[in-house]
Amino acid sequence: SKPTNISMQEVWQQDRDHYIHPWTDFSTFKETGSMVLADSDNVHVVDGDGNRYLDGIGGLWCVNIGYGREEMAQAIAEQVRQIPYYSCFGHHTTVPAAKLAAKLAELAPGNLNHVFYGCGGSVANDTAVRIIHFYFNQLGQKSKKKIISRIDGYHGSTYMAMSITGVKFDHIGFDIEEQLVHHISCPNPYRRPAGQSLEDFCNEKVQELEDKILELGPAKVAAFFAEPIMGAGGVIVPPEGYHQKILAVCRKYGVLYVSDEVVTAFGRLGHMFASEAEFGIVPDIITCAKGLTSGYLPLGATILSDEIYEVISKPQADGAIFTHGFTYSGHPVSCAAGLKNIEIMEREQLCDQVRDMGAYFEAQLKTLLDLPIVGDVRGRKFMMCIENVADKETKALIDPKARVGNRIADHCQARGLIVRPLAHMNVLSPPLTLTKEHIDFMIATLRESIEATVQELRSEGF
Ligand code: PLP
Repeated sequence: SKPTNISMQEVWQQDRDHYIHPWTDFSTFKETGSMVLADSDNVHVVDGDGNRYLDGIGGLWCVNIGYGREEMAQAIAEQVRQIPYYSCFGHHTTVPAAKLAAKLAELAPGNLNHVFYGCGGSVANDTAVRIIHFYFNQLGQKSKKKIISRIDGYHGSTYMAMSITGVKFDHIGFDIEEQLVHHISCPNPYRRPAGQSLEDFCNEKVQELEDKILELGPAKVAAFFAEPIMGAGGVIVPPEGYHQKILAVCRKYGVLYVSDEVVTAFGRLGHMFASEAEFGIVPDIITCAKGLTSGYLPLGATILSDEIYEVISKPQADGAIFTHGFTYSGHPVSCAAGLKNIEIMEREQLCDQVRDMGAYFEAQLKTLLDLPIVGDVRGRKFMMCIENVADKETKALIDPKARVGNRIADHCQARGLIVRPLAHMNVLSPPLTLTKEHIDFMIATLRESIEATVQELRSEGF
C-alpha cells in the first residue's frame, strides 16, 4: 500500500528496493511494498498518510506498556549521555545492567537468581542451550546434550533456536540440528481426537515425553524447552496440569526444564512471569525478551537457578570458563529501558489491569464463536487467537489458497485495526494499556471483517 504523501512515497520505494524484511512473503511484498509507520501513541500506530490504527498485536507481542512513553525516551537519553556502552566482559559492569539483573532475580520465581543478557529471544534460547551443555559437561555428564521440544513450539530464528522451534513451515529449506533436537507432539486441546477427555489427552502427551526420554536415553537428554502458552504455533493453551506433569517427568530423569517466556512474561498473562503464577511450575531456566523493554530497545535474558549458576561459575580444574557472550550482552541503554519499563508496569499496576481487562477481552472475543467460520477462540488474557475453519463440526481447514487469516487482517486494517494473520488464524496480543472501549472497537471490527471475509469466500466458491 503505497502512501499518497510524497516524502513517504520515497521511503516506501527505498524500503521496497533495499530492505530485506524478516518473515516476508516476497511475492506479495514486491507488489504491495510495506505500510510505512511514522508515529504512535499508547495503543495506536499511525501510517505515513496520517491514518491511525489500533495495534491489536502490540508490535509483535511486545509493546506491553504502549507507545509514546516520554519517560522511556528520557531514561534512554539519560543513559546515552552518561555511558552509552561498555563491554561487560571480564570485570566491568554498568549501573543499569547490574540493577536490572537484581530486579529480574527479585521477580523471577524460585531461586532463579542469575541473569545472562543477549539481544532478543532467539539468542536467549541459544544461550540456554550453551549454558546447559556447559553445565552437564562440568558435571562430567558429557553426553547429556539432547534437547526435546514440541511440534508448533516457537523458539526463534537463529540456527539452534530454529531447530528447537517445532513449526514445520519454519524448517522448509533448512536442515534442523537432528543430532541434538527432538520434537514431541503439540498439546492442542482443540485438535485432540473426538471423544477423548482432556485429562487423558494431557496424560498421553506427558507419556510421550517420558517415552521419548527413554528412547533417546536419559543419560543423553539434557533439557526440555516449552512456552507456557505456545504463541506463534497458534496460541495453544495446554490442558490443566500439563506443565506440572511434564516438569515431574523432567525431574525424574534429571532433564532441565526451560520455560520460554519471551511472550508470556511482563504482564501479557497478568504476571511478571507466568510459569509459576499461572501454571504452578518453577523451571530451571527462564528465557525472556520482548516485553522486558516493551520493544523500546532490543534486549533478552536467560535467567538461571542457583544450582546451574554454581556449577557453571565454579573454578574448573582444567581452567575452562563459560566462553559465551556478545559485544552487546548487558547493553546499558537497553538495560536502562528494561528498568524503566518494569518501573512503569509496577507503578501503574499493569498486571492487575490485565487480569481485569483480560477477562473481559476473552469473554468478548468468545462472542465471535457464533460466526460461521470461527471454530475456536482461545488463549488467556492479552494473548488470544481466533482459529477459522471450513466446518465447525469436523474442524476441517479452509483451502489455504483462500488465505483466510490474511483476508481478515486486511479487512481489519481497512477499518483501523491491526491483527496478525497466522495461516488460517488471527492472533491478538495488544498493549496492556487497552481499555474497555478499545476492546469493544476491536470486537466490532473483527465481527465486521470476518463477516466480509465469509461473503468473499462464498462468492469465490471456497
Ligand atoms: N521465543 C518465543 C516464544 C517467541 O515468540 C519468539 C519471537 O516471537 C522468540 C523466542 C524469538 O525472539 P526474537 O525474535 O526476539 O529473537
